[in-house]
Parts: sequence; C-alpha cells; structure tokens
Amino acid sequence: MTEFAPTDRNRVRRLPARARYDAETIYPIIDEALICHVGFVADGQPFVIPTIHARMGDTIVLHGAKASRLLKHAATGEPLCITCTIVDGLVLARSVFHHSMNYRSAVVFGRGRLAESEAEKWAALEAITEHVMPGRWADARLPNELEMNATSVVLVEIEEATAKVRSGPPGDEEEDYALPIWAGVLPSQIEFGAPVDDPKLGEGIGVPGYINTKERRGI
Ligand SMILES: Cc1cc2nc3c(=O)[nH]c(=O)nc-3n(C[C@H](O)[C@H](O)[C@H](O)COP(=O)(O)OP(=O)(O)OC[C@H]3O[C@@H](n4cnc5c(N)ncnc54)[C@H](O)[C@@H]3O)c2cc1C
Repeated sequence: MTEFAPTDRNRVRRLPARARYDAETIYPIIDEALICHVGFVADGQPFVIPTIHARMGDTIVLHGAKASRLLKHAATGEPLCITCTIVDGLVLARSVFHHSMNYRSAVVFGRGRLAESEAEKWAALEAITEHVMPGRWADARLPNELEMNATSVVLVEIEEATAKVRSGPPGDEEEDYALPIWAGVLPSQIEFGAPVDDPKLGEGIGVPGYINTKERRGI
C-alpha cells in the first residue's frame, strides 16, 4: 500500500499523533466522504469549492459543466488541494477548552488534467456515480453524446496526502474529572430518510433494492 512520506507541505504539525500518511487510512476517508472541497488559487485569489468526487486508485476524479471555472482551472495543471471530512461525533468535555469532535479527514495535494480519452471519461463518470449511489450506473440511462460533450472530467493524481483522525472520549484535565458535569461523546453519522417518489414517476416503478440498503441509508 502507498505511504505518502511527510514533507513540508503535508506534515501535520498540531497533534501529530493523530496524523496518518498511509493510503490504507487515507483512501477509505476519501471513499466514504460524499463530497470534497477543492482549493485552488486563481489570479492570486484562493477559492475553496465543494464538489462531488470519486477515487480511482491513486487518482481523484471530478466532473462538471464544461463552463465551470473549477473544472477549467483544475484542468490547467496548477496545484490543487482537495479535502474530505467525516464528522463521527461531538466530544463534550467537562471544560470548554477540551471540547472537540471525533473526525476523520484527508488532505490531498495534486494537479489535474482533463480526461484524455472517452474511455477514461466514461470510467470516471461511472466511478463518480457509483461513489454517490452504488448500483445506480447499471440502472440509470447512461450519458448520450450531447451530455458527454457538455461534461468535463478532471483527473487529479494524488502526489501527497495526509489523514488526521480523532476518536474516543474527551481528554479533560485530571482535576476536572471530579466535577459534576456530564461529559462524553454524541456520535454522529449520515442518515438518509425514506425514499420519496418523484411526482412524475411512472406507475408501478418501485424503489430499487440498492437504494434502500442499510449501508447507503445509514439506518
Ligand atoms: C454538495 C455539492 C456537490 C456539488 N457537486 C458538483 C459537481 O460534481 N460538479 C460541479 O461542477 N459542481 C458541483 N457543485 C457545485 C460547485 O460547488 C460549483 O458551484 C460549480 O463548480 C460551479 O462553479 P462555477 O464555475 O459556476 O462557479 P465559480 O465561477 O467557480 O464561482 C463563482 C463564485 O460563485 C460562488 N460559488 C460557486 N459555487 C458555490 C457554492 N457551491 N456555494 C456557494 N457559493 C458558490 C463563489 O463565491 C465563487 O467564487 C456541487 C456543490 C455542492 C454544494
């Protein structure tokens, strides 16, 4: 498995014990996060834009309208910083100072390029669709030529990456454990509600099994 050696750019400085540099930790965070935030600098101005992503091996793929500034900029090969964040719980300590969150986050550095071939573009769109809703690619109508032409796909090879992970109970000051204040963790996770039919849904079309799974809905 890939190990991203710490450099000046990706070395975690605060609480380095929470840092991980191995793909075994980093990649599942990228895969579980529904969206990422892509940071880039255009004409000296930083932008951080939320977008859907997927991982294909050591590459993160992005897609969007051809006219999108994010996609156009990402394809230039200028440096990008992509982050994924999963909040696992609120950490409620006895002292305000030690309140925190349990989280898994990944920060990735790389440069983007446009998909070179139709096959590469097609594979990336499949990966993005399956990232959001496993099973959907095989069920939905696939993009036609017009839709493919309107869509840009950018591939960002992961040059460097870091994960930072916090888990477990609060870490209060020794003398504060005697205080009569509740402390602990309020766990959190993404939960999807029951599927709501499109009002224009044709008669007799039921919710596919792959949508109503515990893995996807979280409940
Ligand atoms: C959950 C989620 C998923 C998304 N998935 C995709 C995707 O897969 N592909 C895709 O192309 N786009 C996606 N978007 C939209 C994306 O965030 C941008 O809006 C999009 O790339 C359009 O960029 P643009 O070039 O029109 O805007 P830009 O020219 O990049 O933006 C101009 C200005 O508009 C404002 N702006 C742009 N986007 C947002 C935003 N999302 N929220 C608030 N202000 C904003 C900012 O001030 C920005 O400086 C997603 C957004 C969200 C929230």
